[in-house]
Amino acid sequence: MLTVVPRPVSVRAPAKVNLHLAVGDLRPDGYHELTTVFHALSLVDDVSVVAAETLSVSVYGDDAGIVPTDHTNLAWKAAELVAAHAGRRPAVAISIDKGIPVAGGMAGGSADAAATVVALDALWNLGLSREKIMDFAAQLGSDVPFSVAGGTAVGTGRGEKLLPVLSRNSFHWVLALAKGGLSTPAVYRELDRLRERGTPPRLGAPDELMQALASGDPARVGPLLGNDLQAAALSLEPGLRRTLRAGTEAGAIAGIVSGSGPTCAFLCASADHAVEVGAELSGAGVCRTVRVASGPVPGARVRGDG
Ligand code: ATP
Repeated sequence: MLTVVPRPVSVRAPAKVNLHLAVGDLRPDGYHELTTVFHALSLVDDVSVVAAETLSVSVYGDDAGIVPTDHTNLAWKAAELVAAHAGRRPAVAISIDKGIPVAGGMAGGSADAAATVVALDALWNLGLSREKIMDFAAQLGSDVPFSVAGGTAVGTGRGEKLLPVLSRNSFHWVLALAKGGLSTPAVYRELDRLRERGTPPRLGAPDELMQALASGDPARVGPLLGNDLQAAALSLEPGLRRTLRAGTEAGAIAGIVSGSGPTCAFLCASADHAVEVGAELSGAGVCRTVRVASGPVPGARVRGDG
């Protein structure tokens, strides 16, 4: 008898760092108006989907134990959304190999949602348009469209309205992963609290940063990195000040809290320089672990698609 073995589809999706994150006022819908420059990094999650009797999510990797495997996982929500559109049952087993830190301000859950949409489009031969994929992505979360797009892009609105940014060369990064995570809504609440009590500095428009990215010179980009959420992340996790200081002392051009933190991202002059800074930083005892990555890299893509 011939047994048909279902073939899995595997999709790789990148982490992001915000090179510029200007947080505007709180909107009536509870979101803040953002102007951000996203940058996709070679720190990735691999998500594979295969036909199964029922929907399930399994998670592998260092942080696997703290990721939900039920309907609250963003990949699960993505599967339900795409299945409803396709008029079929979400009968797939989703397997996530996590390389992106959880609750690290690097859009790990968003990467998994983006990867699941792209993977199911391929698994079920849906032939979804790019527009439709982006529409699903925006419904799943503010950062999910960028996880699909990858590269370097300016995001406005909640971050979901994207325009690509011209950037020359690869940039090299060291990431300091923290022991715990930070809740993104808690960091935004802390920023609102700090703004009620005083006037923490606000970033302007990212025009100069865009010119620096186009030049491809990390020495020009470094001083222009900025994140309005950094003050709030440091207020909740004061130890991050030491991490940021240790990165620049280790020779990085500049360091920044990634998104809502607590991961810190350090820009370096070259791939070799990033390895040196990474080694030095890991000896400083200021973080859980250190990763070296480069960007920009593509968004969620079926593996083997070249
Ligand atoms: P962002 O940078 O987009 O604000 P983040 O990178 O800080 O997010 P995530 O890793 O996406 O944070 O996870 C935030 C929370 O979402 C986790 O604590 C977890 O409970 C939940 N979650 C749901 N689905 C996932 C997933 N696939 N991977 C990781 N966390 C998930």
